[in-house]
Amino acid sequence: RDANSSRERPKLDGFDMDQDTQSKEEFSFNADVARLMDIIINSLYTKKEVFIRELISNASDALDKVRFISLQNPEFMGAYPDLQIMIDFDYDAKTVSITDTGIGMTKAELIKNLGTVAKSGTTAFLEAMGKGDSLNLIGQFGVGFYSAFLVANKVVVASKSNDDEQHIWTSTADAKFFVTKDPRGDTLGRGTRVTLHLKDDAVEYVEQDKIKNLVKKYSEFIQYPIKLFVSKE
Ligand code: ADP
Ligand code: MG
Repeated sequence: RDANSSRERPKLDGFDMDQDTQSKEEFSFNADVARLMDIIINSLYTKKEVFIRELISNASDALDKVRFISLQNPEFMGAYPDLQIMIDFDYDAKTVSITDTGIGMTKAELIKNLGTVAKSGTTAFLEAMGKGDSLNLIGQFGVGFYSAFLVANKVVVASKSNDDEQHIWTSTADAKFFVTKDPRGDTLGRGTRVTLHLKDDAVEYVEQDKIKNLVKKYSEFIQYPIKLFVSKE
């Protein structure tokens, strides 16, 4: 199956939701998310690079779900049997994107999974944080998706689930996020593309060698191919 897994390079994101759509809906993060983000940003600013571990691990989880469902229902793969992770950069736009061909998220799942703390462990984590030793706790719990905001001032998530049309989630971490149907249509087939608009003090992450080393460091136990692409010289 790996032999014919040469997929096209993912499309770039010359996309600005503020300009390209009139129909975005606005949501507020729930209070736990806001707290979690504060904690992550305040306690991990010296370990920013963990974002890559968290986003690769989310991609891998999403791919596991496809693999699992396909065991019972091979048709679930549809036209997208390649299970893989792609990382690409845009130097000019100062973005890094992590794309997977995993399970994807419907509009409702984008709102729920990226807007609320649904994990039972996280509530315990937030309680324990009140008692100190944050770095140790963060290592124990994993910090998850919101670690993207360690390096990004804006995060754009495009996602295509088999159960819905492609939607976009975006946030600049200021208590709000937006969701809209993707005006570009279905560009992913199936899966999720997370684009990080890097902060000025994190532009180093658009360097291919830097990402390559981090991927090597954090992907030891990832069972899917991870492909690196560079968009501009
Ligand atoms: P965790 O991975 O521990 O559940 P995260 O904060 O990392 O927590 O992610 C929150 C949720 O968002 C995940 O449980 C999953 O439902 C959803 N999610 C995040 N990234 C992806 C992705 N690449 N594909 C599909 N779902 C995702
Ligand atoms: Mg995770």
